[in-house]
Amino acid sequence: MTATRLTLSLLNAADTDGFVALLDGVYEHSPWIAERAFAARSADGFASLAALKLALADVVRNAAIDEQLALIRAHPELAGKAMVSKTLTAESTNEQSKAGLTDCTPEEFARLQQLNADYNARFGWPFILAVRGPRGGGLSRTQIIETFARRLNAHPDIERAECLRNIHRIAEIRLNDKFGVTSALGNQVWDWAESLARFSDPGYAEQGQLTTLYLTDAHRAAAGQLADWMRECGFDEVTIDAVGNVVGVYHGKDEHAGRPGEAAAHEWPRRLLTGSHYDTVRNGGKYDGRLGILVPMVCVRELRRQGRRLKHGLEVVGFSEEEGQRYKATFLGSSALVGRFDPAWLDQADADGVVLRDLMRDAGLPATLDAIQALKRDPARYLGFVEVHIEQGPVLNELDLPLGIVTSINGSIRYVGEVRGLASHAGTTPMGRRRDAAAAVAELVLYVEDRAGAVPEVVGTVGQLQVPNGSINVIPGRCRFSLDLRATTDAARDALDADVRARLAEICERRGLSFTLERTEAAAAAPSDAAWQSRWEAAVTALGLPVHRMPSGAGHDAMKLHQAMPQAMLFQRGLNLGISHNPLEAISNDDTELCVQAFQALLDAL
Ligand SMILES: [Zn+2]
Repeated sequence: MTATRLTLSLLNAADTDGFVALLDGVYEHSPWIAERAFAARSADGFASLAALKLALADVVRNAAIDEQLALIRAHPELAGKAMVSKTLTAESTNEQSKAGLTDCTPEEFARLQQLNADYNARFGWPFILAVRGPRGGGLSRTQIIETFARRLNAHPDIERAECLRNIHRIAEIRLNDKFGVTSALGNQVWDWAESLARFSDPGYAEQGQLTTLYLTDAHRAAAGQLADWMRECGFDEVTIDAVGNVVGVYHGKDEHAGRPGEAAAHEWPRRLLTGSHYDTVRNGGKYDGRLGILVPMVCVRELRRQGRRLKHGLEVVGFSEEEGQRYKATFLGSSALVGRFDPAWLDQADADGVVLRDLMRDAGLPATLDAIQALKRDPARYLGFVEVHIEQGPVLNELDLPLGIVTSINGSIRYVGEVRGLASHAGTTPMGRRRDAAAAVAELVLYVEDRAGAVPEVVGTVGQLQVPNGSINVIPGRCRFSLDLRATTDAARDALDADVRARLAEICERRGLSFTLERTEAAAAAPSDAAWQSRWEAAVTALGLPVHRMPSGAGHDAMKLHQAMPQAMLFQRGLNLGISHNPLEAISNDDTELCVQAFQALLDAL
């Protein structure tokens, strides 16, 4: 591809034919996409490359299903006949050879032909995968074959949408090539995340899985690595604190000039606090939490390279524990910063009987309550807390949006319960005389689904259902269940909670059953601070992207910091349907570039 470099001003100055010609080859054999994007553009044209990509994706999303299918069918099979007979477009030839598909072993080639045949028989269109992958450099043949086999089992509607998203990713990379742009900052974050994932706990590491539980050797090595990188980035202070948080400070102008001696709190140079967690769930993903440490790190590296100081200092914290996997001490790292570290946690033992206090001491931490309580931050010294995180859900991915603005972190209530009836004979007990505990809970499950579904931004889930000692020929006498209710406001959560409990009582009364319900957790909703939320919105708008506001269904460190200072979060789209807490968790380098740019814009506006 030796065409002259494409620019936004060239595109914005072009007429319809010129515009379509300039974007030729971006969407395979489908000039109608560029035509419609041209017709829908604003008078000023496209504000950014990201805005152009989004406009093209919008055309496809708003097209008829037949048109979407025609777009999918305009693509060649992977390692298919067109590749063998060398009749692919220049763009496809480039992608398929970059992914090494032209060098398949005979076995790989045979496997791909079988997958192509099975896939076409099931869906009636060719399998589409952006083989240059989330980093742009090319997936391995093993990754391609695994993805192919996995997606063969998807529902056709979901798979059609996934094909279209892959087509947008292919178009994105082709556009990047035409514009001659690389996502250098996004690549840096992506490469750090990849490198950090080499530290994984025994039993998982051997299988290529990522598990980093609190204060294991892998966890401590990850902390050491983060601290080293922070020093290389040019942070002024880098420490690992008494609970294992990695803390990097980049001084602001005031602070760097020298600290005031006995100044009052309001005269202290205030800092912006940011960060997220570096621990993971078992067999987790590489970006959950870590993205929120690495994005501000690369921002500091860039500031340092430019020799720039912000008015305010930036404090980046890699929280040591958020997931609650090893001890029942979720948000351990951020709890310490807001003075909510529970002293009883120190006496907890993990599944192997290792007491937290001993573990901390063995890890070289002071393991005293005094040292931990000293980590509490004075809110008067901070502007607030911001956190970048992957969405961990499907919403942004479905909307083809790289970034989303969090409006509130959901409040939640959790219960474990049990309904009790009578375990009688399945053959001899007439239907009208049964006291079936499982049927009652089934009724509750459907009620939770209906009730939560009737209100926006409220969710309810029964994730566990058990009939203890159940038999095929015995009416369930007991049924245990869990209940997880969440909402963007405490009022909405409490209303859902009251309705669900009332319905459970009503069901059991009507069916002649009894029940127990034990509340195991209650967390208040954490609405974003209006000023910080609007700063994120301005940062995203500056990139030429629309503002999409959404709640966070999952809890995050920002929820803890919320107890001490104003906070607001920015979400980045996850690939693979937004799956998280799973090795399939993925982000693209280009989305990450936009995320870094949004963070830079936020810092510049301080
Ligand atoms: Zn997380």
